[in-house]
Amino acid sequence: MVTKPSLLFYIYLNFNKIFSMKIFLLLISIFFISFSSISQTKSPKDFLEYELGDRFTRHHKVVEYFQHIASTNTNVKLIKYGETYEKRPLYIAVITSQNNFNKLEDIRIGHLKSAGVIEGNAAVDMPIVWLSYNVHGNEASSTEAAMKMMFELTNPSNTQTQKWLENTVIIIDPCINPDGRDRYVNWYNQNQNSPYNINPDSKEHHEPWPGGRANHYLFDLNRDWAWATQIETQKRLIEYNRWLPNIHVDFHEQGIDAPYYFAPAAEPYHEVVSDFQREFQVNIGKNNAKYFDKNGWLYFTKEYFDLLYPSYGDTYPTFNGAIGMTYEQGGSSRAGLGVKTSDEDILTLKDRIAHHFTTSLSTIEISSLNSERLKKEFASYFNKAKNTPVGKYKSYVIRYSNNKDKLTSLKKLLDRHQIKYGISNVANTLKGFSYQDNITKTVKLTNSDLVINSNQPKSNLVKALFEPQTKLSDSITYDITAWSLPYSRGLDAYAFTTKVPIKLDVNEMSEGKIIGVTKPYAYLSKWNSTDDVAFLSYLLKHKIKVRFSKAPFSIDGKNFKAGSLIITRRGNEKLGDKFDKVVTEASQKFKREIAAVASGLVTEGKDFGSRTVSYLKPPKVAILAGSGVSSLGFGEIWHFFEQQIQYPVTVIDTDYFSRVNLNKYDVLVLPNGFYNKILGKEKLTLVKEWVQSGGKLIAIDRALGVFANSKDFKLSKFKDEDEKKEKEKDEKERKEQSELEAYDKLERKSVSNLIRGSVFNTSMDNTHPLGFGYKNTYKTLRLNSNHYAYLKDGVNICVIKNKSDMVSGFTGVNALKNVEKSLVFGVEKKGSGEVVYLADNPLFRSFWENGKLVFCNAIFLVGQ
Ligand SMILES: [Zn+2]
Repeated sequence: MVTKPSLLFYIYLNFNKIFSMKIFLLLISIFFISFSSISQTKSPKDFLEYELGDRFTRHHKVVEYFQHIASTNTNVKLIKYGETYEKRPLYIAVITSQNNFNKLEDIRIGHLKSAGVIEGNAAVDMPIVWLSYNVHGNEASSTEAAMKMMFELTNPSNTQTQKWLENTVIIIDPCINPDGRDRYVNWYNQNQNSPYNINPDSKEHHEPWPGGRANHYLFDLNRDWAWATQIETQKRLIEYNRWLPNIHVDFHEQGIDAPYYFAPAAEPYHEVVSDFQREFQVNIGKNNAKYFDKNGWLYFTKEYFDLLYPSYGDTYPTFNGAIGMTYEQGGSSRAGLGVKTSDEDILTLKDRIAHHFTTSLSTIEISSLNSERLKKEFASYFNKAKNTPVGKYKSYVIRYSNNKDKLTSLKKLLDRHQIKYGISNVANTLKGFSYQDNITKTVKLTNSDLVINSNQPKSNLVKALFEPQTKLSDSITYDITAWSLPYSRGLDAYAFTTKVPIKLDVNEMSEGKIIGVTKPYAYLSKWNSTDDVAFLSYLLKHKIKVRFSKAPFSIDGKNFKAGSLIITRRGNEKLGDKFDKVVTEASQKFKREIAAVASGLVTEGKDFGSRTVSYLKPPKVAILAGSGVSSLGFGEIWHFFEQQIQYPVTVIDTDYFSRVNLNKYDVLVLPNGFYNKILGKEKLTLVKEWVQSGGKLIAIDRALGVFANSKDFKLSKFKDEDEKKEKEKDEKERKEQSELEAYDKLERKSVSNLIRGSVFNTSMDNTHPLGFGYKNTYKTLRLNSNHYAYLKDGVNICVIKNKSDMVSGFTGVNALKNVEKSLVFGVEKKGSGEVVYLADNPLFRSFWENGKLVFCNAIFLVGQ
């Protein structure tokens, strides 16, 4: 066989006299196009050695295919933007025409200039269409479709796609969540029948706990865009902000019987969604519909999937100037390679790929057809965002007096979103809305306060993240209705209707230092944030004995609140010099300012030898996971221990929990979940006895249910028998009323019983170890309408007193009644142990930053 170079040489030798140079060059180009693109770029089938849809492709193979495409095409750039927790690579592929590709960097810069995030005039710009596949790992058809997309976008004989590439840049992320995808795909490949069985009873349609939807730490990545708590999100945001696409599609799957869903989205839309964004969603929807009609495929629009909560793969891009959309194919993990649906049809993986492939192409087509309009509207979106931002608030001010860790953490988040901020230029007296007090009042700003102004390219995102109350055009929404950063982070903050002038942030970096004497009697550290807890965790890991004060004290002119850590030399003598070395290291690593004191005699409060200073025994912690436990609820705790405070935990599966000797643990955490089966009568008695003999049980959110139903515990849904009767009567009346309600009004009616993630003001008892490090009020995020009465024989550390304490979000009228006099956090003493009830989940999605210390107090301080 003649190899390519020698064939060329042969043509050259024999024909150069006959052909003109031009014809010769043409021949060379044809030769290269035909050989280098078509013959070298393999179709997914040729590369994988099976037809797409015949089996699920493991992530590494998808990556290899993308690498293959990039190596055989000169107009494809593969960018590795990160790695998952399980070390799988995260890639995007950028594709455009060869001509555009040669000036890709100019296009990217020009595009960012037209958004105003880079200064200067855009010399060249082009719409960017970003397609994100497989954010939910077990919605696995879309990654298969992504491979087909890559092939067709680089297929020179596909005249359609080649034409679109002339005026658009396409970004394909084949898999946002590789860890979740492989969890599903590996399981499916191991459990499927051969050939696959369409009977929905078959095991291959019943994925076990925790399922492949979430990432390694079981976080839902489609709830994490705005909070960026997960590595996948953090890395993706960097890349996303380097491109700021005009169009972003997040590909999903839903129940097997559901027809395809695409834009336009359902109400409510967030107030910041522009007219053009609404209009173009409709255009895209119409174009998709055209192809679905042609094929006779079913679909629906404008239902269920709204545009409100800012942390989705559709809203986040929308608040960043894109037409952000969710596309949903019927399928998900239930579907496998093929399954019988309730309308006696068969849904195959091949169908699912075909549908996602069709909407992918159609979205690019309509974007390419409207290329000029997209460019114009994109520039105009950012221009308006900067010059005439939506909403009454022009500045959000975070007081300098807030805890420094909280300020640093907030700035880090703003940087991830490329939200600009500065510090107040003048010490001004202004009237503004106080997030803490929920009223408008006069405040004197200092010239160190952090200011986020709304006149910036990211103003819509700023509004969505900071406004005290999000406007709801409809109460039926898919997710929580309150998330404002000053509430979730417990910040003393103000919103102003006038612009506060700013100057460049001096970016005061906190540094670790030890102030005081050398070789001190004791080191002292404050207790206000999870950084303080990470510092403690480091000391405990290095075998340093730590004490903490249960009351405030003053020494050497410094005030310390209850909860402050006291690290005495006494007890650590056998470590010798290592003692001082480790404390110094820890203070630097966690940027803590540590006081080194020469005496245990305080000027105010109790001395270090007092009984109010307790030894902090490093707790051995176990967490329950597995069937019955909310995988998200467990994941939040798992992630918190390993990634945020680096403290060791033992995870126990509910499968063998009944055989575990609890005496080996000091703390048992029950994440959100349903425990009636896990804690049957016998096991519950064992748990009770373990608590009585000194164990500490921490129950979160719905885990409280099993204790409220047991006579052995003091938790109750009702204050007394009378209240029980009264509430049951109310409930009965409501049910009777709804029986007479017209059927089509029922859904709306049921909303009155719901709480959709609303924020309530609470009273916090900061003299109890569970409340250490807090002020005497705390904003809680209430996620459901479960009500627990104040503990009769226990300590009510945090409670909601009145329904008027609601500060933000949507709560139905009936649900609101049920909020009054309810427990948020409480402790029941039982023998030598404790049960800590956390009715509101302080670790929800890991974004309610201000709740995390309550959880740490429960783990480390309560009962010590
Ligand atoms: Zn999904």
